[in-house]
Amino acid sequence: MTPLSQTDFALEKLPLERYVPPAKPSLVGLTRAELAGAMGEAGVAPGQRKMRVQQLWHWLYVRGARDFDEMTSVSKDLRAALDARFTLARPEVVAEQVSADGTRKWLLRLPGEVAGERPHEVECVYIPESDRGTLCLSSQVGCTLNCSFCHTGTQRLVRNLTAGEIVGQIMVARDRLGDFLGAERATGPGLPTAGERCVSNIVMMGMGEPLYNFEAVRDALGVAQDGDGLAISRRRITLSTSGVVPMIPRAGDEIGVMLAISLHAVRDELRDELVPLNRKYPIAELLDACRNYPGLSNARRITFEYVMLKGVNDSLADAKALVRLLKGIPAKINLIPFNPWPGTKYECSDWDRIEKFSEIVFNAGYASPVRTPRGRDILAACGQLKSATEKLSARERLALRAMAMTD
Ligand code: SAH
Ligand code: SF4
Repeated sequence: MTPLSQTDFALEKLPLERYVPPAKPSLVGLTRAELAGAMGEAGVAPGQRKMRVQQLWHWLYVRGARDFDEMTSVSKDLRAALDARFTLARPEVVAEQVSADGTRKWLLRLPGEVAGERPHEVECVYIPESDRGTLCLSSQVGCTLNCSFCHTGTQRLVRNLTAGEIVGQIMVARDRLGDFLGAERATGPGLPTAGERCVSNIVMMGMGEPLYNFEAVRDALGVAQDGDGLAISRRRITLSTSGVVPMIPRAGDEIGVMLAISLHAVRDELRDELVPLNRKYPIAELLDACRNYPGLSNARRITFEYVMLKGVNDSLADAKALVRLLKGIPAKINLIPFNPWPGTKYECSDWDRIEKFSEIVFNAGYASPVRTPRGRDILAACGQLKSATEKLSARERLALRAMAMTD
């Protein structure tokens, strides 16, 4: 059989928007206005709804309630009325893997179905450090874009996640890490020191292009930022885009989080190949949108991601061109060692080259942390977020699932 080329994949992609939601919807991830609507359905009088929403919000997002019966400040009658119509379900944890460095990866099965398709799954990765914990969220099942170095781009099925499924990833992480008020905190290597929140930061850097699922991502990040709930401030949330230029001003106005741009090349010719969306929105337009991103300052910079591909984009001339290109934009540059995946034609640049590249960037006045690959042993590092378990046998899947249930 001839191997499929990237173009074949593009033709083969199946956008699955024929999604049928579960019969009883989950209240997780609704905006306050939507939750007020749900209260109405459960018979709460209009004048009472705001107060009830506030109560539920606390139980859901501060205490992490998984059952209406936990909500002791809510009357029994209302709890029963809610239970008859709604759930507090999060995506189901199909597998949990913990890396030697403390990185955790969850394979999550999404509720609802699409006729004839296997259940949809996404991955969510948690990266702990001593003073923070960063959760990397997915915004889509698969991705419609085909960046040539990215594993997710090779996935055939694509559908947008709902806001509830995006917030659900945060809920699962807080459930599993014991990060809700009153819960017993998880123990293990690498977790933040006691007193720090386990999940303090969010990056939209998992599967999918968040700006192709704008409304759901906006609503989900609105819920995440709410100070009376999950309370993750917008300065601790970063949205990464491959460069959907027309949506960047809206992201600034309506979401207001930190922005990261997957730049990866300094010339259009090469970027067209690595990030094919560049053919539609070339580098100059992308950087103009960045210059106009609201609220930029030296304290609020745009992160430019640059994956280090051996012999492709890693010459020292490229490094010099990169700093020239970003002149005048309050920027950080993140050099990402390429994470190889089976079948890729790329290799990661040599360490020595990454250091020289980073020195040029550093000498130009940019902090240039080289992102240390985390969780490599569990295929959790950037760009490896394809449901690796797809390849496992039914028995192996069951074993993983059992592991997830017992610890
Ligand atoms: N779709 C969005 C966000 C998800 S990708 C985007 O492209 O920005 C998150 C980051 O991982 C992006 O910067 C992406 O370019 C990078 N990435 C993808 N595959 C990679 C790989 N194999 N090795 C290293 N980084 C990769
Ligand atoms: Fe999609 Fe981002 Fe991967 Fe490109 S790098 S294919 S935009 S997930």
